[in-house]
Amino acid sequence: MRASQLFFPTLREVPRDAELISHQLLIRGGFVRNVAAGIYSYLPLGWKVHEKISQIVREEANAFGGQEVHMPVLVPKELLDETGRSKVPVLFALKDKNQREFFLGFTHEEVVTDIVRNTISSWKQLPLYLYQIQTKERDEPRPRGGLIRGREFTMYDGYSFDSNEEALETIYRENYRAYGRIFKRCGLEYLAVEADPGAIGGSENHEFMVLTESGEDTVLRCGNCDYAANAERAEIIASAEVVAIGGKAESSVVSTPGAHTVDEVAAFLKVSAEVIIKTIICVADGKPIAGLIRGDRELNLPKFVRVIGAKEVELADAETVKKVTSAPVGFAGPVGLNIPIYVDNELRGSAYVVGANEADAHRIDVQPIADFAVTAWGDIRTAVAGDACIRCGSGVLQDARGIEVGHIFKLGTKYSKDMSALFQDEQGAKHPIIMGCYGLGVSRTMASAIEAHHDENGIRWPITIAPFEVGIIVANAKDESQREYADTLYRSLKALGVDVLLDDRDERIGVKFKDFDLIGVPIQVVIGKGLAGGTLELALRRVKGEKESIAVEGAAETLAKRVCDEKALLDS
Ligand code: ATP
Ligand code: MG
Repeated sequence: MRASQLFFPTLREVPRDAELISHQLLIRGGFVRNVAAGIYSYLPLGWKVHEKISQIVREEANAFGGQEVHMPVLVPKELLDETGRSKVPVLFALKDKNQREFFLGFTHEEVVTDIVRNTISSWKQLPLYLYQIQTKERDEPRPRGGLIRGREFTMYDGYSFDSNEEALETIYRENYRAYGRIFKRCGLEYLAVEADPGAIGGSENHEFMVLTESGEDTVLRCGNCDYAANAERAEIIASAEVVAIGGKAESSVVSTPGAHTVDEVAAFLKVSAEVIIKTIICVADGKPIAGLIRGDRELNLPKFVRVIGAKEVELADAETVKKVTSAPVGFAGPVGLNIPIYVDNELRGSAYVVGANEADAHRIDVQPIADFAVTAWGDIRTAVAGDACIRCGSGVLQDARGIEVGHIFKLGTKYSKDMSALFQDEQGAKHPIIMGCYGLGVSRTMASAIEAHHDENGIRWPITIAPFEVGIIVANAKDESQREYADTLYRSLKALGVDVLLDDRDERIGVKFKDFDLIGVPIQVVIGKGLAGGTLELALRRVKGEKESIAVEGAAETLAKRVCDEKALLDS
């Protein structure tokens, strides 16, 4: 491509409202343009990167026997009714002219299961793995960070169909390994972590995280063994049995005017947050319940759901809190509370401070069981750095920030049962097909690569997904010999299969350097004064400030080899 013909409207200014560096650089480099909140158009450079990532994904999926399909964006409501997912909050809903209801596809388990149930009947037709790379639509409550969390985005979604658990295990591991290769080939350091299955359901599942400071997720890793989990999911070792009650002071109510938050109460009573209990009123399947955790901890709703065995748990609204506790929000406590009370495993001590269920008051010297009935103990708080590792028991968890770029699930028979996708075994008995699903955010991976690889001048794309592999800069566009040689080199590189950009624009050299750095061209060659003496200048975008000189003689071959070497670095 010649830069004089390339549509890449770069900007010098940092766009307003773009907080994340990937968002800023995607706009500034002319990769994407915003259309509406969380919705973007890809310009030529952006689409090129997108397609390079897609191609890597495709190659790795094909390598383990995946077959590419393409399902529609419009999904009839009835299909999602079959699994109960027509109520998922992020769905975009619409009607056709005959008032038939549709959703915009947010993931395609139901659509693919519908195809399979109508075509597969025997164990002989399994295993099957279908995948697509397609636009997904989700009305995310908080679209953010450009391509990191869009309302329209591209996902690779793969679906496996098997007749037995061992086959599911095999394809799950294939995907796990393929995901690792994909992220490695995209130049991304990743960590596979145990994760919460969320709305999708199923048993085993892993998230693939790109570790960067700007990540939304917290991951916890054991310093001693290879345990790694999303903090939302990480389990916590239950503390010792409840301590003896003997000699405990009677609990009493003290006045705490104006102290609502844990910090305010701690300051007022001159105690640490560790002896304060937060009583969190929730609604589980329509009924109020309380979850008790230490003042400096967070209630973990997915864990809470599992401990109480409910379908759904949400935080109660202010109305409900007032009704249940007869007090304003901020003063709920377990003593005298007439609803089921679930207590975090950690709260085995005595002399806690709790809300008094009246305005501006707290109760001190409170002990679980002695002062209020415990419906059940459980692991209901979110794990944090410093907790002991559940796997090895001796290691301590350390935290890091990550961006979730992929998520793979063993679904089991959840969808095939709901949708009657059955196969006959060798004896002719019918069983639900055993499924897995595998998601990878193509557009999010693109943005994550920038989060992981950039500097103050712009993007440092890993060469495998860069919009161009080599960029040629003509130092002085008015110099006939430089222009002519650049053209020859450009054509030779193209003949060698190198993806090359020739900056033939009539611009100052400084402008060209700035643009190449901004859009992240990995190998940059300058044709300048050295040409007469038989040399060119070469700089690598990933290495700062270093320039080397290469011979004009065989320059195209030298550069083509450098492209291979740079790619090999990512594969090693
Ligand atoms: P998140 O927790 O970030 O919302 P999710 O659990 O909803 O993600 P999945 O439904 O498992 O994600 O989707 C598979 C992959 O699609 C994710 O791992 C992520 O890479 C990508 N993805 C999901 N939602 C978005 C989004 N709004 N914008 C861009 N990519 C997304
Ligand atoms: Mg989501």
